[in-house]
Amino acid sequence: MNFHILTLFPDMVMDGLNTSIIGRAVNAGLLSIEAVNIRDYAFNKHQSVDDYPYGGGAGMLMQAEPVYLAYEAVAEKIRQTGSVPAEKKLRVVYLSPQGAVFDQNMAEEMAREEDLILLCGHYEGIDERVLEEIVTDYVSIGDYVLTGGELPAMVMVDAVSRLVPGVLHNDVSAEFESFQDNFLEYPQYSRPEEWHGKKVPPVLLSGHHANIEKWRREQSIIRTYERRPDLFEKCRLTKKEEKWFKEYLDGE
Ligand code: SAM
Repeated sequence: MNFHILTLFPDMVMDGLNTSIIGRAVNAGLLSIEAVNIRDYAFNKHQSVDDYPYGGGAGMLMQAEPVYLAYEAVAEKIRQTGSVPAEKKLRVVYLSPQGAVFDQNMAEEMAREEDLILLCGHYEGIDERVLEEIVTDYVSIGDYVLTGGELPAMVMVDAVSRLVPGVLHNDVSAEFESFQDNFLEYPQYSRPEEWHGKKVPPVLLSGHHANIEKWRREQSIIRTYERRPDLFEKCRLTKKEEKWFKEYLDGE
């Protein structure tokens, strides 16, 4: 999978993504990440890429033309590889607090793309006209305002990359995780068996796989109910689980 990040701060993005699992996946050729400096496409001698917003108001706005030229350079490169059919529109994500809030389903859907272009805004954002022309998806990482789209782009690249086959050494570890069917993951424990007087739940030491699976599933149900009632509403429990959970709540 190839990520193309259009940004005014390429070093920030590359430094953040060149480590650990994502860095190793890049070295192994499973992913490619390029940060394209929008400033390289400035059309004036001062290399400025921002200007005052029409109508007044605080702050500066990124201008349309440098963003468009940076996009065109990347789009041309992608088209030349032939990885995207000519008739298919390239997927361009504008990271914006006004977008749909990023979640695991979105990450899974984006992991099926071969090329993803991520556009990072800065200052007060980007001239609307270029957004209208090139952007296919508006994505937010949460209901708060950051200074730039770089951290959100890094969040997206990280979450999407770990779903690309081979990126996690053990593919199973991406399989049973939080947000699978809207459940949060069960609690996990490692050695030692006792720490600060707290013991590992005995069932996990039993070696009885069916009982372990049952315990984990129940813990997922309890945890989702307690921590994310909004998600719990979307969870499907079997009849047997519903009965058990009602008894559990009655016993609380
Ligand atoms: N004036 C814009 C508004 O009110 O919608 C906010 C601009 S913000 C200060 C600058 C840039 O940071 C945005 O263009 C966007 O790329 C990025 N950004 C800020 N918060 C974000 C969030 N929650 N999710 C994704 N991107 C965000």
